[in-house]
Amino acid sequence: MEENCVFCKIIKGEIPSDKVYEDEEIIAFKDINPVTPIHILVVPKKHIATLLDVKKEDSYLISKIYQVINKIAKDLGIEENGFRVIANCGKDSGQEVMHIHFHLLAGKKLGTKIVG
Ligand code: 5GP
Ligand code: ZN
Repeated sequence: MEENCVFCKIIKGEIPSDKVYEDEEIIAFKDINPVTPIHILVVPKKHIATLLDVKKEDSYLISKIYQVINKIAKDLGIEENGFRVIANCGKDSGQEVMHIHFHLLAGKKLGTKIVG
């Protein structure tokens, strides 16, 4: 846990969030500033600052994140229409929160370009 990390504060319950999933290792909640009708952030509870800090021992966690995304997609009924997963890393990507997270975007037909 990092003192000044907004997602660590959400994980600790110090900042409220609209949770859609939680277990001992992963939390998922609605983005405060959604860019699509469904915009969920899937976040490991372990504080890892950026994708560049992911270590071999985090493999299980990263794999589990995709299993959680799979479950959320089914729970929200978006598995048929589909969705997009984005993880930003570093300044050119516009990463704002230095605690890795995966954006799950859905609920409308997304542009064919990945960047936009
Ligand atoms: P990034 O640009 O780092 O990939 O994405 C960070 C995301 O976190 C942004 O989409 C932003 O709206 C979201 N966010 C930042 N602070 C909070 C917060 O306190 N609560 C929630 N639910 N989302 C947040
Ligand atoms: Zn953190």
